[in-house]
Amino acid sequence: MHKSIIALGFILANVAAIAQVNIHLTNSEVTEILAGNYNPNDYQPSVSFTDPHAIAAELSSRVNADSLRSYLKRMSAFETRNTGSDTISDSRGIGAARRWAYQMFEKFSNENESRLKISFLQFDRNICGITQHKNVVAVLPGKQTPDFNSSQTGIIIIEGHLDSRCNTSCDTSCLAEGMEDNGSGSALVMELARVMAKYEYNRTIVFMLTTGEEQGLHGAEAMAKYCGDNNIPIAAVLNNDVIGGVICGETSSPPSCPSENAVDSTQVRLFSGGSFNSPSKQLARYIKLQYEEELLAHVEVPHLVTIMTAEDRTGRGGDHIPFRSAGYPAMRFTSANEHGDASNGPNYDDRQHTSDDILGLDTDNDGQLDSFFVDFNYLARNAVINANAATMIAQNVCSDLGFTVEQST
Ligand SMILES: [Zn+2]
Repeated sequence: MHKSIIALGFILANVAAIAQVNIHLTNSEVTEILAGNYNPNDYQPSVSFTDPHAIAAELSSRVNADSLRSYLKRMSAFETRNTGSDTISDSRGIGAARRWAYQMFEKFSNENESRLKISFLQFDRNICGITQHKNVVAVLPGKQTPDFNSSQTGIIIIEGHLDSRCNTSCDTSCLAEGMEDNGSGSALVMELARVMAKYEYNRTIVFMLTTGEEQGLHGAEAMAKYCGDNNIPIAAVLNNDVIGGVICGETSSPPSCPSENAVDSTQVRLFSGGSFNSPSKQLARYIKLQYEEELLAHVEVPHLVTIMTAEDRTGRGGDHIPFRSAGYPAMRFTSANEHGDASNGPNYDDRQHTSDDILGLDTDNDGQLDSFFVDFNYLARNAVINANAATMIAQNVCSDLGFTVEQST
């Protein structure tokens, strides 16, 4: 008995020692916004654009495939965004990448009457030998201040992990451009910050680029913990991870690709946890429903929006999971087809989690990439599906998320 108490005490102490600590936002204005301590009148645009149906009608023409391509090209130049990589250099590593993302969010804010408020979410934890880490967040304050006591005021988080890796999770010297995983999701989050900053939403929207995903979802866990510790209500988390590729590799984690080199540029998968009527499953169904109800009439290329049974691919995970674990509705967008199962075994020959996860190839040797592994138009369409869903939730279009589905017998 005595022995087991000591053992338990040791385990608890150990858990406390490895959890994220000192989690805080580096911009005090953002701290106050997420705490609900602000006057919404201070953040109104000069032209009020609030109608969710009108927003849905123009999203497809405003989300720009060339913008997405430019962000990816810039991200590839950092060579690696590994969580343990250089934080001092301005040209290589995660530090340079997150400062660039921060500056891009500031640029988008400047183009939209300073309506985005930018911050790092900083936390301490030893990951790959580095003890301090930073997510990047851009916050668009809502007309309703986040209030823990009101279910109508929960914030919306659109996220993607900025960090990358190759075979070994803490290898900081290898080339890890991480274009499909997860430059694609990061570019999507940035483009939506640019596009959505124009609109006046009821709910606050947070555009977040996380770190430490590849070593255990640490950046997302830090945000989930921060929101829990500070009573910040969350209505929905839309996680985007591996969202721009359309080609199957030799391998893919089940539920899997149909066959090697199969192409699917018109389907996206929505993963969410829990049983049939769990909050996260309801969120996924809501996103699909609002796509069909509000967006489909305005798109040139329709997408098949597929609700998956599992929370993620077999043996895989993502940044939606820490939020779901903390009790918030959270889901993941992922491409229909993936280039690899990240197994990194001796015969593994796919791009995911290797130095081959690059933007594309220069097939005619003219110094320019001409064949791409990320389909920018496919990525743009997935961005629009995210934006439409966030818009409908933010404007409270049937978004109590309280409906249930009855299984037919
Ligand atoms: Zn990923």
